Amino acid sequence: MQNQAHVDSWYAASVAPLEDFPRLQGEVSADVCIIGGGYTGLSTAIFLRQRGYSVALLEANRVGWGASGRNGGHVGTGQRADQEQLEKMLGPDHAKALWDLGLEAVDTVCELIDDNAIDCELKRGNLHVACKAKEAPELEAEVEHLSSVYGYDQIRYVDKTELAELTSGQGFHGGTLDSGARHLHPLKYAQGLARAAASSGAQIYEGSRVLSYSEGDKIRVKTDGGEVLAGFLVLACNGYLEKLEPRAAGRIMPINNYMLATEPLSEDLARRLIRDDTSMSDSLFVINYWKLSADNRLLFGGGESYTRRFPADIGNFVRKYMLRIYPELGDTRIDYGWGGTLAITMNRMPDFGRLSPAVFYAHGYSGHGVPIATLAGKLLAEAIGGTAERFDVMASVPSPTFPGGTLLRWPGLVAGMLFYSLRDRLG
Ligand SMILES: Cc1cc2nc3c(=O)[nH]c(=O)nc-3n(C[C@H](O)[C@H](O)[C@H](O)COP(=O)(O)OP(=O)(O)OC[C@H]3O[C@@H](n4cnc5c(N)ncnc54)[C@H](O)[C@@H]3O)c2cc1C
Repeated sequence: MQNQAHVDSWYAASVAPLEDFPRLQGEVSADVCIIGGGYTGLSTAIFLRQRGYSVALLEANRVGWGASGRNGGHVGTGQRADQEQLEKMLGPDHAKALWDLGLEAVDTVCELIDDNAIDCELKRGNLHVACKAKEAPELEAEVEHLSSVYGYDQIRYVDKTELAELTSGQGFHGGTLDSGARHLHPLKYAQGLARAAASSGAQIYEGSRVLSYSEGDKIRVKTDGGEVLAGFLVLACNGYLEKLEPRAAGRIMPINNYMLATEPLSEDLARRLIRDDTSMSDSLFVINYWKLSADNRLLFGGGESYTRRFPADIGNFVRKYMLRIYPELGDTRIDYGWGGTLAITMNRMPDFGRLSPAVFYAHGYSGHGVPIATLAGKLLAEAIGGTAERFDVMASVPSPTFPGGTLLRWPGLVAGMLFYSLRDRLG
């Protein structure tokens, strides 16, 4: 496959160009080779350089080309799975350690932005809304649980009356406002991480797809132009791992998710849609998520598909989800529509692990990767540095293999996903 430019998204249209990194040619040595130039790979590179390791990062396309340059930009607190589910699955101590790491993930995003002066439109707050009446008291109970068990006081319940003041969105029964959550411009963040990694001395190669690797005294990582010889390897390919490492692929499922950007909206309309410029998300299984851009476009994500093909007209595909919430946008022009591939797991918790003492991976963030993939880089660097306790808090969460493994997982998954998305529609 050729080195691909960024997809035609509002994000790609609104970043300053980043200089090209070279293609790998010939033989290069490094302490650690990282495959993948999204948040996982770039954050790993930054934290490894802080520990003095030499790093060669290989990206098949451009840095931020994958999900890291195309996502909703929501930086949620905690983990993708909710705390009560984690408590039942893993017990209170492990659940608490995961909650703490989830908060540290958001802090790590903010610190990297601050330390490296990354201009990526970082803002505060997420308003999460209940689409079904029975979910409103559940959200209220969740707020109470986070406060009493975890001492978390940045989230509060918002009733239906107050919600109507915060958003003109239709069909909601209550919500939660989490001031600890953040949102940002995802591609500006990815490019900022790449600049920070490169200026700290990481060697980044673009247009350098890894074809295979082998382990001996050293790990040999091959592209069609060259080879990296390294002591450690980090697989950071997430939804784009494909056939590179079948041993890690069976516990994740690549799925496609889609976004649109409207034309810039008037200040009045923008404030009506989201009064306080937070991000927003809803409680459907196939989640809708949205926020405003710096130039007041609505950036709306909704709809999924489970085959390799993207819909022909993505803007129109996503528009129907947006109009269910904001019918007032019926005449609003859609300027961009794009999609990306992310990896999900069976239990929606990420899959961290080792394939040997020298080969590590982290993926399957299930839609919560802006914070957790960033954190993964920190924990991968700690583990390579010989302190794996915190990496193991993540790695010891059970990560079941999809029924049917890599070959047969599609039919079962598609049936399951379609069942749940049907439940969304039936209410
Ligand atoms: C539309 C969409 C919306 C989303 N919204 C949110 C959100 O609002 N909040 C949130 O937290 N998460 C969200 N996510 C998920 C989030 O974007 C991902 O979890 C996160 O970006 C994963 O980062 P990553 O570095 O692991 O993977 P990626 O960013 O996908 O990077 C993987 C990279 O590996 C490269 N690669 C693959 N194979 C090879 C190879 N053989 N050789 C060299 N390079 C290779 C790819 O080219 C790619 O650039 C969303 C995802 C999508 C698609």
